[in-house]
Amino acid sequence: MEIYEVLYYPHALLKKNCSPVTKFTDQFREFLKNLIATAYEFHGGGIAAPQVGVSKRVFVCDFESIFQDKESIPKEPDDFLVFDDKGNSMEIKFPMIFVNPEILETEKPISTDWEGCLSFPDAPSFEISRFHKITVRAQNEFGEFFTVKTRHLYAAVNFQHEIDHLNGITMINHWPKKDYIEKDIVGFIQDFIENPEHRKKIKKLKLVKATKIKFDFL
Ligand SMILES: [Zn+2]
Repeated sequence: MEIYEVLYYPHALLKKNCSPVTKFTDQFREFLKNLIATAYEFHGGGIAAPQVGVSKRVFVCDFESIFQDKESIPKEPDDFLVFDDKGNSMEIKFPMIFVNPEILETEKPISTDWEGCLSFPDAPSFEISRFHKITVRAQNEFGEFFTVKTRHLYAAVNFQHEIDHLNGITMINHWPKKDYIEKDIVGFIQDFIENPEHRKKIKKLKLVKATKIKFDFL
């Protein structure tokens, strides 16, 4: 298992539109395992491939602990459903992998809240408006299609946030211009990078630069 280096805003690869995955190779599945391990290591509910410098339309997520937390945003029966391509209901298993995700449907209400992002460590965050209900169709690590329909706010927001990443859009593109100064945001992130505690952790983890790897699925 390898942990990838996470790219921080304003890295150019975070602003690029990602290309679809067409080769579902063993190396692709190995990459996904490492991407999931990277999200867990840095305590992210989700992470998109461009956040480790791989410009492909892929993200992974895990809401299991959030779904079990009855106090924050309780999960109600039927508010997170997964179907195969024939419309048969599927068992929900985390972590979930979304390859070439497409938003099929969004539905109001719109909720406005702040969000976190592994590419914006220690930076202040501002409110973003998102649809409360969303249906996403995607492929799994083998290229098989599935559909997720959710009205669970955390999941719906996460899907919109991660799919934004695949289109080169980050939180800052949504924030009201009057709320922040970009230079300050970059400054907070830079302070985080230079923090001795963070440096020590990074050194210990022996992070792998995914940008330097010639993956066979690119
Ligand atoms: Zn993010």
